[in-house]
Amino acid sequence: MKTIEQINEKILKGEAVVLTAEEVVSLAKQEGVKEVAKKVDVVTTATFAPMCSSGAFVNFGHTKPPMRMERIEIEGVEVYGGLAAVDGYIGATQESKQDKTFGGAHIIELLIRGENLKLNAEGKGTDCYPRKQFEGYINKQTINDFFMFNPRNAYQNYSAATNSSDRTIYTYMGKLLPRFGNVTYSTSGELSPLLKDPKMLTIGLGTKIFLCGAEGYVVWPGTQFRNDVKVNEHGIPISPARTLVVIGDAKRMNPRYLRAAYFKNYGVTLFVGIGVPIPVLNEEIAHFVSKSNEEITTEVRDYGKPGRPVLRLVSYAELKSGWIEIDGKKVKTSSISSVAMAREIADVLRKWIVEGRFLLTKPVKLFNEDRSVKTLEEIKEAERFKIQEPTCVNCGMCVGVCMYDALKMVNDALKFEEDACVRCGLCSDVCPVGVKLPPL
Ligand code: SF4
Ligand code: SF4
Repeated sequence: MKTIEQINEKILKGEAVVLTAEEVVSLAKQEGVKEVAKKVDVVTTATFAPMCSSGAFVNFGHTKPPMRMERIEIEGVEVYGGLAAVDGYIGATQESKQDKTFGGAHIIELLIRGENLKLNAEGKGTDCYPRKQFEGYINKQTINDFFMFNPRNAYQNYSAATNSSDRTIYTYMGKLLPRFGNVTYSTSGELSPLLKDPKMLTIGLGTKIFLCGAEGYVVWPGTQFRNDVKVNEHGIPISPARTLVVIGDAKRMNPRYLRAAYFKNYGVTLFVGIGVPIPVLNEEIAHFVSKSNEEITTEVRDYGKPGRPVLRLVSYAELKSGWIEIDGKKVKTSSISSVAMAREIADVLRKWIVEGRFLLTKPVKLFNEDRSVKTLEEIKEAERFKIQEPTCVNCGMCVGVCMYDALKMVNDALKFEEDACVRCGLCSDVCPVGVKLPPL
C-alpha cells in the first residue's frame, strides 16, 4: 500500500517510478501484477479523441461604454450569451451560420493559437449598460478569462460502429460503408484513462490532469456518467460508462493537443487531449493498469438498424489488428481517435512527473455513487407548474426607496410598518423576486 503523499515525496526527490500505460502493460506481461504494484508509483494514461461535449467560457472584458452582451458571435459562430454581461460560452459543436464545417471547436482552437477573431455582440441597452452593439477583433491576450469547461469527456469505453444497411451512413463514428463495409472505434484502448482505472478508485473531484497541454482538473462526473453497465471478466465495462467534467486554463493550452474537426453530414467537434496520472496505490489498481488491449473489450453495434443492436464483443487488440469478423465476413477496422497522440500525451505527462513539475492530487470526492442514464421520454401531457405567490427573500432592495421608513430591515429581515406607509408607490417596481409592494 502506498499513499499519494508518499508518491509525491518520491516525485520531489526524483525517485518516483513513472511508466506510461503501454509500458506498464509490458512490465506486467514480463513480471506480473505483484511486481507492478511493488515497482511502479504512477501510470500515465491518455486519450486524444473527438469529444463533442466540450467548450470554453470567455470573459471579453467590458466595452466603453459598457454593454450587456445578449447575442454574441465570433466569426459567425454563436456564443451563448445568457450569462451577462460580457461572459460567453463557446460550445464546440455550435456551427457557423455561413459554413457548417466551421464552428465553436474552430473558434476555441484559433483563440488558443493566438489568432485575431471578429467579435460581434448586441444588447438591448440599459441605463447601466447603455451600449447596444460591438464589433471588433479579440484574441487571447485581449480577453480576460478563457477557460475550457467540458461537460462530458474521456468516455469510459465506446462501442465500435458498423453498418448492415444498403446505404452509406454518416455518423459521429465517421463514414460507415454499407453491408458491413467497415468498422470504426474510438478510445485509445490500453492507454485510455478510465479503462485503466475502471472503478475510478483514484480519479475524482480535484484530480489534476493534462488537458490540451496545460494543467487541468477533474471537477465532476461527466454527463451521461453511468456505472450500472456490464463488465468483462477483468472488471472492465464493455460499453460506454463513466465520463468526466474537466476544466483548465485555455490561455495556457498548447494547440498541438487539441484539434477542431468536422465529420461529414454530422457536424463540428473537437479533438481533446487528456492525460490522467494513476497512482499505483495497491494491487487492485496495479491489476487494472496492467490490463492490455487483449483484455479490454467493447461491443460492436450496427448503426444501420434502429436501436443499434449489438453484433458481438471484440477486444481492442482485435480492433487494432485492422480486421474483425462479422457474420463470417472479414471487415476492415479503423480508429477515430489518435493512439499516436495519446501515446505522446502519456509520455509528456510522464516527463512532467519525473521532472517534478507535476505532483498528484488526492481527490476530495470519488464518484462512486450508483448512477444510471435515462432516455428522454416523449411526455405529451403533464401537470403544469403553478406560478407561486412570490415570497420575500429579505434582500433589502425595497428599503432604500422608502422615504417614510415603512420598509425597514430589523435583524436582517424585512419589516413593514403599515401605519408609516403613505402609499406613495415608490417601492412598487423594485422587488426583484416579484413581491407585491407595498405589502398591503
Ligand atoms: S408605498 Fe409605502 S412602503 Fe412603499 S415606498 Fe411608499 S411609503 Fe414606503
Ligand atoms: S420585498 Fe422584495 S425587495 Fe423587499 S426585501 Fe423582500 S425580496 Fe427584497
